Amino acid sequence: MPRTLRTIRDVGEGAWKGKRVLVRVDCNVATDEDGHPVPGGEQRLQTILPTITFLRDRGARVILLAHLGRPRGTVVDVLRLDDVARRLTSLLGTPVQYVPDLLGPAAQAAVAALEDGEILLLENVRFDPREEAADRAFAQALASLGELFVQEAFSAAHRNHASVALLPRLLPSYAGVLLGREVGVLGGVLEKPARPVVAIVGGAKLETKVALLRNLLPRVDCLLTGGGIANTFLRLTGGSAGTPRADRAAHREALALSTTHRDKLVLPTDVRVARAGDTARALVVRVGAIAPADEVLDLGPQTVVAYCHILASARTCIWNGPLGKFELPAFAEATRAVAQCVRGSETFAVAGGGDTVRALTDMGLLKHFDHVSTGGGAMLAFLEGAPMPGLDPLYGP
Ligand code: ADP
Ligand code: MG
Repeated sequence: MPRTLRTIRDVGEGAWKGKRVLVRVDCNVATDEDGHPVPGGEQRLQTILPTITFLRDRGARVILLAHLGRPRGTVVDVLRLDDVARRLTSLLGTPVQYVPDLLGPAAQAAVAALEDGEILLLENVRFDPREEAADRAFAQALASLGELFVQEAFSAAHRNHASVALLPRLLPSYAGVLLGREVGVLGGVLEKPARPVVAIVGGAKLETKVALLRNLLPRVDCLLTGGGIANTFLRLTGGSAGTPRADRAAHREALALSTTHRDKLVLPTDVRVARAGDTARALVVRVGAIAPADEVLDLGPQTVVAYCHILASARTCIWNGPLGKFELPAFAEATRAVAQCVRGSETFAVAGGGDTVRALTDMGLLKHFDHVSTGGGAMLAFLEGAPMPGLDPLYGP
């Protein structure tokens, strides 16, 4: 029986008016290599607007708690949230106040001065080392700023951090609009999907996807492999030459899964390789004919046709992990072609994963998916069936 989340829509309309509502959001705007926010890259901010508007329109005094980047418990000036407050202000068309403080006198005063329907953004919660240490006293201090709590940071919901996992245990708590949708869609895919369900799992390393395969294989009708995952399976099952490089335990489990679910696990029949280190050119090779020095960087055209044929009759598709090293133009083809097949089919299509979303965005194919998870690592954890300390307190009546 799927458990249901308590959401902000499950509370009486009048419950919010005049209440100080702490809302945990993810304000991770896109950053450059040094971790500095770059212009644009506001998708994450867009996704939290419905919840903020919902609360504002009902007269709540909205206090946003957010993280940005990985400051590791110290103040990092470029990760202050003043710029986020400005961007939110322009996206919402209502002022979002900001104080460069989380629990001190400036924050307390700003909270006390809030009027009904006003919005305040406090400083990056990860500037305080007690956030990631899940410190109880810190969580209690945060809780004392508000009367109700709304969880909207799905992307952090797998983390045992104070504002994510402890706060919802200290105040009456509800899931925000985005969080509700993420859990509804991903929970639906796991628990009661329209069948056939086809999973596509690619990406760089098998070790990082074994837990996902373990939880998905018993639930799906078919699992199409790509990327480094497929390469390792091919080597493990004797389909191609070379010694797999993943760790032994992950190998043993992957091999066991491939035996148990032999009829569901689909491996490529041809691939694209870089020969003699030439990554500018892709050479199509049958799986049995991969030379020892070939670098296998994408799926081949025959495999793409086979995968698209399977997807054509799918009613649900869940995709994590690029099918090839898409950052190299010569090896982006399978990811693009399979995404185009998903787009052309009737299937309810869900995609997620940091690099998967980046690849599909670059190719302009994201909009053809019915749901794109904002979760990244949190989506993986959810689909693995791993603990989600930020969600657990939100279930039930
Ligand atoms: P996600 O972030 O969507 O979960 P992963 O992090 O698992 O995805 O994997 C993404 C990375 O996998 C990309 O950087 C891509 O270049 C790489 N990749 C995909 N296929 C291959 C391959 N055959 N060989 C090497 N790297 C690959
Ligand atoms: Mg990744």
